[in-house]
Amino acid sequence: HAKNSGRNTFRIFKPGMNTLIEKRRALEVDLDAGIARGEFELFLQPRVDVVSAEVTSYEALLRWHHPERGIVSPVDFIPVAEASGKIIALGEWAIREACRMLSLEANVGRLSINVSPIQFRHTDFRRRLDEIVRTAGVETKRLELEITESVLIDDDKRALKILNELKVSGYEIALDDFGTGYSSLSYLSRYPFDTIKIDRGFVSNLGEEGSAEAIVHSIIDLGGRLGMTVVAEGVETLEQARFLARSGCDELQGYLLGRPQPLDKIALSVPAEVVAGLAMEIHGGAETP
Ligand code: C2E
Ligand code: MG
Ligand code: MG
Ligand code: MG
Repeated sequence: HAKNSGRNTFRIFKPGMNTLIEKRRALEVDLDAGIARGEFELFLQPRVDVVSAEVTSYEALLRWHHPERGIVSPVDFIPVAEASGKIIALGEWAIREACRMLSLEANVGRLSINVSPIQFRHTDFRRRLDEIVRTAGVETKRLELEITESVLIDDDKRALKILNELKVSGYEIALDDFGTGYSSLSYLSRYPFDTIKIDRGFVSNLGEEGSAEAIVHSIIDLGGRLGMTVVAEGVETLEQARFLARSGCDELQGYLLGRPQPLDKIALSVPAEVVAGLAMEIHGGAETP
C-alpha cells in the first residue's frame, strides 16, 4: 500500500482519515452479513419511576457481536448504517426483535426503540412498523418510539403528520436527547410527545455547572406543565438521582439504576440504597419495605 502511494500521489486526506474511512467501509460491508448471521442483539436498560422506585419500561439498545471486532458500539455502526441506507433493514430488525421480546417476556411491560431520522423519513416507515407489530400481536401502546429533534427540522409538516398518525395507532412517542442540537421550545407544544428525555450531558454536569441545574429544573417544569413524562438519562450517582427526585423529574435512566443488559440479565428492581435515597427525597424519610 505505502509503496504504491509514491512521491507524486496527491493526498486529499489528512493522516488518520484513511483508516477511519476504511474502518467505516469495512463495517458497511459487514453490516448485511451481520444482520443475516444474527450478530445483532438488543440490550435492555431499565427506566425507573422516581416515586414508586419501580421499573416502568426498558430502552432497547443495539449491540453488534462482530466476529473479529468483538462488541461494536452503536456510536460506531449507526452512522455507517445511516450513510449506507442499511439502517432501514437494521431498524426493522430491531423493531421485530423488540416485538418478539414483548410477546415472550412477561417481565417487560414496555420497550422504547430508537428510530433513526433516516428511518423515520422513509416513506414506508409507518406501514412497515404497523405490519411488524400487528404480525407479532403486540399492543402498540407497549412500544415507545424515541426520535430526536433532527427529525423535526427538515420537513416539520410531514414529521407532524407522521407523529400524529403514530399517536392515532397508539404508539408512545418520546423526544430523545432533549436540549442538544437545535432545541426549540415550540417543538414541545407542537408535536404529540408523551415523554421527553433530558440529554445525559446536562445530568452529568449537575453539581459541576450551576447552569445545568437551572436547565434541568426548567425542562422538568416545562415538560410537567405540558403534561409530558420527563425522563433523565445517564444518571450515574445517587446525588444526581436525589437532585432529580427533588426537582420533580418523573423517571430516571442510567448506570445507577441499571446498565444495558441482555434480556436474560436485565434488572427487574432497583438497588436498595437507591430506593432509600429516592424515598428520602419524595416522602421525606426512608421507608422500610
Ligand atoms: P441514546 O438513545 O441516547 O441511548 C442512551 C445511551 O446512553 C446508550 O448508549 C446507553 O448505553 C448510554 N447510557 C445509559 N446510561 C448511561 C450512564 O449512566 N452513563 C453513560 N455514560 N452512558 C449511559 P449506547 O447504547 O452506546 O447507544 C448510543 C446511541 O446509539 C443511542 O443513544 C442511540 O442514539 C443509538 N442507538 C442505539 N440503539 C439504536 C437502535 O436500535 N436504533 C437507532 N437508530 N439508534 C440506536
Ligand atoms: Mg434513546
Ligand atoms: Mg438519549
Ligand atoms: Mg444520545
